Amino acid sequence: MAGGNAIRGTRVGAGPMGEAERGEAAPRHRIGYWCSQGHETRVAFATDAEVPEFWDCPRCGQPAGQDAQSPPPAPRTEPYKTHLAYVRERRSDADGDALLEEALAKLRARRGA
Ligand SMILES: [Zn+2]
Repeated sequence: MAGGNAIRGTRVGAGPMGEAERGEAAPRHRIGYWCSQGHETRVAFATDAEVPEFWDCPRCGQPAGQDAQSPPPAPRTEPYKTHLAYVRERRSDADGDALLEEALAKLRARRGA
């Protein structure tokens, strides 16, 4: 539209903001994401923006994909990872205790001698 160009030229000259023009120039499209829990999230992206393949579901925090029929699998390792981390923490504590015990034993032996 020729009239649009004339208005745009006037806007640029009139002020630096150009809010309306920017809204026109950057149309948005909405992308739907679905997580394995069936939550649907719609995210608006500028058409020239790169649309990520996955999106974190704002409701459950699980990864959501654009295919409603096959959402990305939930990270099932999460609870096990936490448990493993707990076990590892305990084990390293035990190791630390063992090392401390060894050091104390050496110290006692040295003192005893
Ligand atoms: Zn979800």
